[in-house]
Amino acid sequence: MSVIEAINVTKSFHTGDVEVNAVGGISLQVNSAELLGIVGPSGSGKSTLLSLIGGIDTPTTGQMLLEGTDLASISDDQRTLLRRRRIGFVFQAFNLLPTLSALENVALPLELDGVPERTAMERAAEALQSVNLGHRAAHLPSMMSGGEQQRVAVARALVIKPALVLGDEPTGNLDSKTGSQVIHLFRELVDRLGQTVVIVTHEGSVTEYADRIVRLRDGLVENEVILNNRTAAAPQSPNSARSLPSTSPPASQSRRP
Ligand code: ADP
Ligand code: MG
Repeated sequence: MSVIEAINVTKSFHTGDVEVNAVGGISLQVNSAELLGIVGPSGSGKSTLLSLIGGIDTPTTGQMLLEGTDLASISDDQRTLLRRRRIGFVFQAFNLLPTLSALENVALPLELDGVPERTAMERAAEALQSVNLGHRAAHLPSMMSGGEQQRVAVARALVIKPALVLGDEPTGNLDSKTGSQVIHLFRELVDRLGQTVVIVTHEGSVTEYADRIVRLRDGLVENEVILNNRTAAAPQSPNSARSLPSTSPPASQSRRP
């Protein structure tokens, strides 16, 4: 089963008398353990599509299925819960709480979901290790570089063991080298953990790392390119997304510094 299936999805916004068709009819599947890149010019509907995929918003017409569940068929409360448990978000601004350590920031989604503190901290430490930041656990965000802060944000997205990690321009606040490293990290998470990831990005290096690129224009899919960037050691089992092994260094690190 696809993690995400969009069936002829549209989204329009009304501003006064003007109707904007932000997404004009998109059908798309996202497969388990796939790294999908969404690219396209500003205003082409990337963020709107990502909000629909993540259940932040519901389509005007069409269906968005997350693990087979139509996101419009459930209540707002159920959708909020589903989102909190099954989707990890990474944004352009890292959105870390400045007074909490890296470890505490990563543990927060678990604590908000009622996981006991001790378990939350253990799982947060594991997630931090999976982004190779175990040694920064006690650091405040202000003591870390932008790239490190975004890796903490990635760990925070991963800590719930989501079905899907979504990133809207996660490299937008980083220089191109650091941005490229963050995209490479997503590649590792797909290959090492079987994580499913969808990122919207301008970062050119996404073509070096994604399994597939979907290019949007005016709210429609302009084209789709399938790439072969999976590392040889990639696990084939989608079930591997269930565990976060802290083993390092990963085999895929040899691809790139
Ligand atoms: P991108 O992320 O590719 O830059 P967006 O999805 O943000 O594009 O926007 C696509 C189009 O939809 C743009 O024309 C934008 O102005 C419009 N749009 C997005 N969100 C809203 C909204 N909440 N209200 C009105 N128009 C919107
Ligand atoms: Mg956008």
